[in-house]
Amino acid sequence: MDDFNKLVYSLSKLPGVGRKSAVRMGYYLLDHKESAVEMFSNVIESIQNIKTCSVCGNYCSEDPCPICSDHQRDMSILCIIESQSELLAIEETGAYKGQYHILGGALDPLSGKGPDSLRINELLDRLANGHFTEVLIATNPTVEGESTFLYLQNILSEKGCRISRIATGIPMGGSLEYTDKFTLSKALASKHYL
Ligand SMILES: [Zn+2]
Repeated sequence: MDDFNKLVYSLSKLPGVGRKSAVRMGYYLLDHKESAVEMFSNVIESIQNIKTCSVCGNYCSEDPCPICSDHQRDMSILCIIESQSELLAIEETGAYKGQYHILGGALDPLSGKGPDSLRINELLDRLANGHFTEVLIATNPTVEGESTFLYLQNILSEKGCRISRIATGIPMGGSLEYTDKFTLSKALASKHYL
């Protein structure tokens, strides 16, 4: 594979980028070679400095992340989400000021993704050692997100947790990441208790 094709191949590995877009990006980068090389070499270097927060699982430069170490936030409510991109989407609404716990995916038995592959033990440790009075489950409205919700509801209610679920209004099969801010704020505000 020549260098240009290697570049196109690498770009096409990014989510949402097909071969055509990868070729267009490749030409763009070559047209702006100097600035692109400078920008991307800096970015690639900083990727290596990004850690995973040992508390919530968020990507961060400092561990614990700024959210976990912000004592102005509500320490009594824990929002459980599937991935980092949902944290970003919820933070952008400004409608939630509690803590987060990122599972690292959702249950998907068909792809062999069971409870052991998610950060569930970490969640149970946090609930045992923290001062949470409420757990808000905000998994995605997909088949996998719903089965994860049912699984969590089951194990958390045994622990005596007060559980709430992000309200509907987000279409089934949708994702929190791509839900508009207004709908997501409404869904957070009108959560229901189980
Ligand atoms: Zn954190």
